[in-house]
Amino acid sequence: MDSNASLRRIPSVDQLLTSASAGAAVERFGRPAVTEALRATVADLRNEVREGRNVPAPENIMAAALARLDADDQSTLRPLFNLTGTVLHTNLGRALLAQAAIEAATAAMREAVALEFDLESGKRGERDDHLRTLICELTGAEDATIVNNNAAAVLLVLNSLASGKEAIVSRGELIEIGGAFRMPDIMARAGARLVEVGTTNRTHARDYHDAIGPDTGLILKVHTSNYRIEGFTKEVGARELAGIARGKGVPLVNDLGSGTLTDLTRFGLAHEPTVREAIKEGAGIVTFSGDKLLGGPQAGFIVGRKTLVETINKNPMKRALRVDKIRLAALIATLQLYRDPDRLSERLPTLRLLTRSQADIDAQAQRLAPVVERALKGAFRVSVIACESQIGSGALPLSTIPSAGLSLTPIESSGRVLAELAAALRRLPMPVIGRVERGSLVLDLRCLEDEAGFVANFAGVHPLFKGGSDDEPS
Ligand SMILES: *Cc1c(COP(=O)(O)O)cnc(C)c1O
Repeated sequence: MDSNASLRRIPSVDQLLTSASAGAAVERFGRPAVTEALRATVADLRNEVREGRNVPAPENIMAAALARLDADDQSTLRPLFNLTGTVLHTNLGRALLAQAAIEAATAAMREAVALEFDLESGKRGERDDHLRTLICELTGAEDATIVNNNAAAVLLVLNSLASGKEAIVSRGELIEIGGAFRMPDIMARAGARLVEVGTTNRTHARDYHDAIGPDTGLILKVHTSNYRIEGFTKEVGARELAGIARGKGVPLVNDLGSGTLTDLTRFGLAHEPTVREAIKEGAGIVTFSGDKLLGGPQAGFIVGRKTLVETINKNPMKRALRVDKIRLAALIATLQLYRDPDRLSERLPTLRLLTRSQADIDAQAQRLAPVVERALKGAFRVSVIACESQIGSGALPLSTIPSAGLSLTPIESSGRVLAELAAALRRLPMPVIGRVERGSLVLDLRCLEDEAGFVANFAGVHPLFKGGSDDEPS
């Protein structure tokens, strides 16, 4: 049959729209989307028929259009299994919220809330009022305010306390956090003049003394969260620095980065400076994130002396950086969990995952190894391995936590097969993200809590996997 005759046999979009399955699709996706999907499917088909493809039955054309609608309907912001071994993975959304926080956020989404309304007096209230008492109780600070994230907190503090003035920082602490967050750039945008003191590896008290002058707005101490300088080093501790700052009448701002509200050594983890310690050491202001070790939603905390927090709150920029009612509700519920330290590691997912024992994870790996190997139809050897998890988000960068996982190694070794496997796992209904390590794909199981969900989801891997068979993904 010549291709013109074939082309005439392709049903029109209008004809296709009259079918029962098109009717059902219109119910689900709306008429404009279905019409557009049919138009695009028919246009593709015409090209294929010109190249010799036979005209498929109308129901198959409709099925292709439906597949297109389904694909377009999926959000790219998909829930996934984080099996990277990094518990607080910035690219995967950091902390998972506690059940209480999810419920509080959901209620705040659904209902009107007393966000800036004082229920006692019936008068206008302040957004920060809901959290102030709780944060102050947990950190020992006099006052507190909350903004969009810790980067915003640092920006707002610098702009409020050191705009047009100098901000003194050790050269060993001029860090880049990742992305575009570089301390010198933030400083410039905040309108503060950066005064670097000391050297990369050594900064002394006299360096700070010598730098403080009439134009000094503040001294900034930055927790070098994502790297360590080792060897011939010297830094001035926060307590000593607070003394120097107080003597000269300038505030010390301590950017803790992750920070934590609880002593992690209680849970068998390495020590990370707590906010309470930083306040006790004499910082005027301490800043830290909501979605790192604290285990809440994205937010930036600014806590410290009342007069300084008041100055910060008067900055018009505060309004541009504030948090909404949903996150505020989740934050309050998260912080309330800290009032009961004995049950914190059970209720706060971040801590629950960080404290899972290697034996527990290893037992899970033993259960899952045969399941995963079977799903991969013999194309991979699946072995249980010991591995090391990380906290992530710059907290304790050098200390790892003993964990266990699965190592998926191609039977016929080839880097391409491994990349295809990783891609197939990303295409699962709930994508599975691991890490490639020395010729294997490693799935660190520390963050796997929904084991049954993982098994059901993983069963779908084979049809998606091109490397192990000739099947094309449908
Ligand atoms: C992570 C981090 C920040 C930025 O915090 P976000 O919550 O990601 O905005 C700032 N300073 C330090 C030291 C950090 O570790």
